[in-house]
Formats: sequence, C-alpha cells, structure tokens
Amino acid sequence: DKVEIKDASHLWGKDSYETQDLINKEVRGKASTACIGMGGEKLLKFAGIMNDEGRTAGRCGLGALMGSKNLKAVVVSGNQKAEPADSEGLKKLIEEARDCIKSTPNTSGYKLYGTNMYIDLGMRLGDVPTKYFTKSIFPVEKLHGPAFRSRYNMATYACSGCPVGCGRIIKDFSDDIKTVDGPEYETVAAFGPLCMNFDIDTVVRANHFCNRHGIDTMSAGVSIAFAMYLYEQGILTKEKAGMEIKWGDSAVILKLLDMIIKQEGFGVILSKGVKEMAVLLGADPEEAAHVKGLEFPMHDSRAYQGAALSYAVGPRGACHLKGSFYNLDAPGNEVGLDLGISFSNKNDPAQKGALTAKMLHFCELYNSFTLCHFSPMPAGMIARALTAITGIQYKTMDLLIFGERSLNLKRAINNKLGVTRQDDKLPKIVRRALKEGATAGIEPGMDLMLKEFYDVSKWDWETGKPTREKLMELGLDQASKDLWE
Ligand code: SF4
Repeated sequence: DKVEIKDASHLWGKDSYETQDLINKEVRGKASTACIGMGGEKLLKFAGIMNDEGRTAGRCGLGALMGSKNLKAVVVSGNQKAEPADSEGLKKLIEEARDCIKSTPNTSGYKLYGTNMYIDLGMRLGDVPTKYFTKSIFPVEKLHGPAFRSRYNMATYACSGCPVGCGRIIKDFSDDIKTVDGPEYETVAAFGPLCMNFDIDTVVRANHFCNRHGIDTMSAGVSIAFAMYLYEQGILTKEKAGMEIKWGDSAVILKLLDMIIKQEGFGVILSKGVKEMAVLLGADPEEAAHVKGLEFPMHDSRAYQGAALSYAVGPRGACHLKGSFYNLDAPGNEVGLDLGISFSNKNDPAQKGALTAKMLHFCELYNSFTLCHFSPMPAGMIARALTAITGIQYKTMDLLIFGERSLNLKRAINNKLGVTRQDDKLPKIVRRALKEGATAGIEPGMDLMLKEFYDVSKWDWETGKPTREKLMELGLDQASKDLWE
C-alpha cells in the first residue's frame, strides 16, 4: 500500500541480471522485479522487459517504452494476503485446477523438456519455420529436448504454485557464463533452424545474450535470418553489411546480436526489425516476415490455417499467444470445449473465421487473468475461479464476452492509430506454399477466412473498424463515438 519512485541512476547501464542482483540487495525481503537492459535503455524496437531472472515480456518493444520514460525497473514486494470472497471454494478449485493441469497431455513433456518439447512434433507438423520460412525440415535431433538434456546440466523451475514447472536452467554452461535461463522453444527455433544454425551452444549463448540485455529472441532471430536470406539473394552485400552473412554461421549470429546492442554498423539496421529492414535495404516488402510490424513467431502460418488468420487480424500482429492454435487446436485438448472451441482440421480454412474469433476472445483472457498457455484450464473452471475470487456470479460464456470486449477495444485503438483492413494480411514469404514437409503445397486460405471472420465479428469490411452496432453491444460506447462520430 505504499508506492515510491526511487532514483535508479546507479542501475542505468547495468544488464538485466546485474540490475536484479543490485535491487535484491537493496530491497528487504522477497521482491519481484521487472526491468530493462541495454535494449530498453537504447530504445530498440524489440527490447523486452525482463521479469524475475530470465522470464521476458518480449514482444512489441515494451522495454523501449520503459526506456523512453527513463524507467529502469518496477519492484514489487509485500506481505499482505489477498482476501477472496470464497476462500474455501477457491482452495478446492485450486486443487481441482492442479489435478486438471497435471493430467493435460502436454504436461509430462513440458516437465521433461520445457517448451522445447514441441520442436519434434512441430517439425512433423510443418510448424517450425526453417531457413527464413522457406523450408520446414531440418536435423531436429541436434536441437530437441533430449539433445539439451544430454549435453547440459539442467535444472527446472516453476512459476509460483504451478504443477508443471516448464522453466529450464542450464548450470555451469561455460567459464564465462555460469547459469542460463532457458532457452524456450521459440528461442531455439529462432536462432536454430530459422537461421540454419544447428550448433546448440550458439543457441544457448544467443539466448543468454538476449536475456542479459533484454531483447526479444524471436524478433532478433527473424531479423538475422532475414539478413541471411537477403545476403543469399545478393540484395544485402558484404559491403553493405560489413561482413559475410551466410546461413548457419554461428559466429555471425553472435556478432550481429552484439552489434544490435552496441548499435554499431549493420546492427543499427537489424535492430529496426524486418519491416524497416526491407525499406532500408531495398528488398521486396512481401519478403519481410511481419504483420503490423511484429516479426513472426516460430509457428508457421501454413501449419495451422487458424493461426494464419489470427496473425492477420490479431491486435498486435503476428503473435503466437493471441490465437494459439498449436496449443488449442490439438486432439485431446479440451480447455475451450465449453466455449465451442473444438478440435478441427488444421489445414481446412472453412469455418476457421468463426473458430478463430472465439480463439482470439478466449486468448485475450489468458493475459488478463495472468493464466499460462502451457498450464491450461477449462473455461468453466476459470469462470468458477473468478466467481470465488470476486463474489460476483460469472457464467462460462461470460468469458467470451469479456474477451470479445477486450479484443474490440484494442482493435478500436489500433483503428484510431491508422490500422485498416489492408493491414490484416500476411506477407508472401509466409503464405507461399513450401515444396517439402507436412505443409507441402498448402497456402493459408486468407480470403475465405478473413471474410468469415469479419462477418462473425461484425467488423466493417470497408474500413476494418468494429461496427458501431458491435461496439455498442459490447458496452464500448466511447470507442463507438471515437470511431464513428
Ligand atoms: S505457469 Fe506456465 S510458464 Fe510457468 S512453470 Fe507453469 S507451465 Fe511453465
């Protein structure tokens, strides 16, 4: 119940681990810290916010937002207890939720290998972008979960109260790096197959470097892979880059990351992300793998039609957490069943508009309620927990309305900032059918899915705005006025 703003000039210039160590020494008792590293201080477009050691709010450059306010860290500590309306009911629900999460099919894999347990299955489904989105098959045994377990001394950790414990820590990595947080699947894929790099140590080093300095591993990996792609095509030359940038050159990956953070030479261009890189290097914008400026995650838009649509229409562009089809559109996963989100043919664009709308609404709740995609709870259980916490009676289907309201409010803000239907698209590089793997010959059926999504969402096809009627129905009266009057 006390808020202080403290001088942090002694922390400015420190990396995220040094910052957290110094704060822990200064704060009495247990504290949680969210801070920025050099990425945020230098206002890099893909700077993240580092939380409690190596967890990252990585996407969309939020670290730069903190840096622009000269805000180095937010530290929270306290000993007061939350008082839910029905504490006994909530306790029972927590036990129920833990049992449910433990019995989820993916849980044992996450326990064993962390999120990187997905890389084998992902490749078999054509979901791991390879060689900058132009391939889908690679020597997965060099970077999969067992490869990490056999090479490194690995420990696990869990977020508070979580029965899964998907977090990985590599101990005694090297003489210069004692402990590494991660890497997660997204990072392994971004610095691995996407760049055609199969040197496991380099993936770990790149991951640690990004954690230290607070930058998003996905956007960094995609930007470096784009440079490799353009170099192969002769659009980026040795003269422009100041060096050769060949596929799979692990030393170059680490060098480029260093140049990004130091803002030296070609690192300045790389740090702007693929959208601006295409402009600055004179490349075809359709080759830049982003939506609305956010680089693609490590889930290929040809592997799940619904994911392709969610990238196109989602509030922050190509984000794998806003329509996590790889997680929810899978057999045996029943968390969305009571909302009508059920397993479908991932390659069929028919009716994906309606399904994706529901997925986006459901996924909005995950961030709002601080839920985790890797320890999913059925919607009905979430509604009961909300009731036990607040004392207000919520029904399962209420959740979809909350999610829809959240999504539409974000869309209205995006519209105010200039987003239209023309921005709801995927670049050719991630639409073009591949010749190999599980997605060979498949293109996302964007036209069909987009039209259906707009229809069911009641978004205006001409302008890309939610209709006045939809905004009023959701109680977003002010947004309706702002957009339509
Ligand atoms: S809450 Fe999620 S991220 Fe944290 S340990 Fe559990 S499964 Fe992993």
